[in-house]
This record gives sequence, structure tokens and C-alpha cells, in this order.
Amino acid sequence: MNQLQALPGIEKATLIARDQHPVSRKQISPNALKVLYKLRDAGFHGFLVGGGVRDLLLDKSPKDFDIATNASPEELKKLFRNARIIGRRFKIIHLQFGREIIEVTTFRAPHDAQNEIRGDASRKGMQGMDSAHSTAGMILRDNVYGNIDEDALRRDFTINALYYTINDFMLLDFSTGMEDMQSKLIRIIGNPEERYKEDPVRMLRALRFCAKLDFTMEENTSRPINQLAHLLESISPARLFDETMKLLTGGHAVKSFALLRQYEPGKYLFAPTLSALESEQGAASKLLDLALQNTDSRLAEGKSVTPAFLFASLLWPVLKIRLKSSQSPDINQHQHFQNAVNAVLMEQIQYTAVPKRFTLAAKEIWELQLRLERRNRRSIESAINHPRFRAAYDFLLLREDSGEDLDGLGQWWTTFQFADSPLRAEMIDALPKPGNQPRRRRRGKPSGASN
Ligand code: ATP
Ligand code: MG
Repeated sequence: MNQLQALPGIEKATLIARDQHPVSRKQISPNALKVLYKLRDAGFHGFLVGGGVRDLLLDKSPKDFDIATNASPEELKKLFRNARIIGRRFKIIHLQFGREIIEVTTFRAPHDAQNEIRGDASRKGMQGMDSAHSTAGMILRDNVYGNIDEDALRRDFTINALYYTINDFMLLDFSTGMEDMQSKLIRIIGNPEERYKEDPVRMLRALRFCAKLDFTMEENTSRPINQLAHLLESISPARLFDETMKLLTGGHAVKSFALLRQYEPGKYLFAPTLSALESEQGAASKLLDLALQNTDSRLAEGKSVTPAFLFASLLWPVLKIRLKSSQSPDINQHQHFQNAVNAVLMEQIQYTAVPKRFTLAAKEIWELQLRLERRNRRSIESAINHPRFRAAYDFLLLREDSGEDLDGLGQWWTTFQFADSPLRAEMIDALPKPGNQPRRRRRGKPSGASN
């Protein structure tokens, strides 16, 4: 306990001694430990908090290690040469160690305490503060520093508010984190409605942690979610895209998507997909299931996944429906396809701001489907050398696996890819002669999507 006693707010913690918890120093990133020791040597307090502690308690390897401290951002900047201050609303410090980034945040008070905490009182736990710093740190709304107990209570869920200290290697619990870990419960801290209103993204985080940890939502935590889902309309599509990526590329896409179908917040990320799935029960929805399963298994094997492929799959049911809609007589089939593709992508980015590089790649994956189907003699080689060929080919196989009858097309492209030149020539020769296909006028590239 020793030095810790001097830390304001610490008296509110339940302390869990080293022999009562399984978190061992060996599992913690050496860089995170270095930061904790350096903070202590400089007279500050540093704690590992959030996903780092939670995942170690569950014997999972944490994605990253976050540290909370009573040192101010300015003090951190002085202490660590590799410190970068990021964030406008909240000043967060990023410490870069090679490829690893350790995020360090100064203890913050919860929203509702902001008006009460003013002046030097709010920094009562801090050392070495001059008045200029404390003023600069505090008057900014949303950037009010606090004590460790306040920092704990402004966090989202009880299991995310456990602190690990190198002081006797104890855990500190300011709510019911340890208990909820045992009962595998996602429980929001404080009044659920208020906490969701403060930050509606917490609803998506609740669903994500259920999927990731295989926990269930405590009743009061889940009850308001459907009613308050509409608050997500106030969140920027860019932030919603980031959350979407965490939901789908965290290794638990199948379960996350199932929860998004079950709870209303899903509609604020994927309305077009979800309504397409309601009417389209066929191959397109099967393709999405398979794509999500593939995503999870690829990640489990340590392989990468591309958001473009995910969006191409998520929006495939939507595109299918749009393509079925009647084609205006003044445009050809190619133009009809282009228009549908553009409309589907434009609609999705109203919900989640999918960066252009991904929408462009998704578009190429779809466009290549036509080329792979058509096997136009003159463009076979260029299709196979297309930078998106691999993704498009995988997508083609996925279409077949999901029950679309493409007359052995996947197998044809599999053989063609690995064939030597004579065999390739033979395969091309065996294709129906161009005379039997309607001749298409050759033109420049079709004009690109407007998004
Ligand atoms: P993971 O990194 O595995 O996604 P995490 O819990 O570490 O999970 P981060 O987004 O890294 O999530 O956030 C770190 C910690 O910051 C959380 O554990 C939580 O204590 C706090 N936090 C993050 N987002 C919010 C939020 N929207 N509201 C309240 N607290 C939050
Ligand atoms: Mg984290």
C-alpha cells in the first residue's frame, strides 16, 4: 500500500492483493511496465487500466495497454521524450515504442462532476502543478482532471474500470468489476440512460464486448438500448465507421453481426444491409454469413482482412436487390450496374464513412465479377493481373459456396490461374467464340463512381 495511500480517492477502492488475482507482470508489455516504473520514479502514480487488465484477467492477450495517471499531459510530455499529445477534446498522450503505442491518459472526472470541480481542488491528487497548467487543464469543458475514483466512474463498463498497480501488484476495483468478471456480465457504470445519452457509442461498445468476451449484458445495461439507439444519429459517420471496424475485425464478426441484427443500434450502422436481409433470404445473405465466418477464421490464423472485402460482402444483398429493379430503357446493362454500385455505396457512407480507398476497392471487386463471368478473350490476362483479382476471385468462390450457380466458373479460374501458357491458350480457345456473343463497342473506361 505504502505510497498509494497518498493518492486521493484511493480509499474508495477495493484492493485485490497479488495472490488473489491472476494478472502477472510477465503478461504485460515490457514497454507498458517501463512507463509505469518511470512514472513512479518521477513521483507520479500510473496504472494499467481498461482492456489490458480485463483481457489479462480472462487470459486473453490484450490488443493494447492503456495507462491512467495523475501526471498531467504537460508533465508527461516533459517526462517522456517520445510523447505526442493527441486529441483536441481530451489530451491523450501517445508513447511510441517501435510498433507499439502506449496510450497514457490523465485521470479525468465524469461529465456531471465537471461543474463542481473547479480551481485547484480538482487537481488535489496532482504533484508539481503550477497554476497556469491547472487553469489550462481545467477550464476546457470535457477536459477536467479528477481523482482516480472519478476516473474509474467515468469509464463505460465495470469490467473496464479495473486498475493494476506496480505497488505490490494489486488490482483496484472502484465498482463491481471483479464480481462482474466472475459472472461474465457487461454492466454499465452509473445510470444507464444517462451514460448512453452522454455517449451513444457505448451502446455499440456494450454489444462488442458481449461478442468479444462471450459475456451477457446485465439487465439494466441492455434495457434502454433499443429505445435509445436513435441517439447514434448524432454520432459522426467517421466515428461509426471506426466502431464498425472494431466490431467486424476484432475476430468476432459473426457474433457481433448477430447482435447488430438483434438490437436496434445495428440499424444505425447497416440499415440497407439489414433491410435487404429481411427480403433476401437467398444466396446473398448466405454469402454474407460465409464472409463473416471467413473473416473470423482468417483473423484467428493471424491473417489480415480487408475492409473492402467486408463491405463488398455486407452490401452484396443490397446490390442484388438494386440490380433486380427495373432498368431504364435509355441505359445499357453496364450503366445499370454502375448506377446500382454507386447508389449502394453512396447510401452506406451516409451511415458509416467508409474511406474512399475501401469503397473504390469494393467497387472493383464487384466490377471484376462481371469480367470474371464474361471471360472476354481480350481481357482475361488483364483481369488476372488486376491488383484486385485475388479479392475478386475469392469473392467469386464465396458466391458459389453460398449457392449461386455459376456453372463451374470458380473452378475455371482456379485452373486458369495455375495453368502454364499452352494450357491457358487451350482454355481460352475452348471458350464460346466471340461471334456467338453480342459484340460490345470498345470505349474508354466507364466514368468512375461519384463517391
Ligand atoms: P479493446 O482495446 O479491446 O477494444 P478497451 O476496453 O481497451 O477494449 P479502448 O477503446 O481501448 O477499449 O478504451 C480503453 C478504456 O477507456 C476502456 O476500457 C474504458 O475504460 C475507457 N473508454 C473507452 N471508450 C469509452 C467510452 N466511450 N466511454 C467511457 N469510457 C470509455
Ligand atoms: Mg484498449
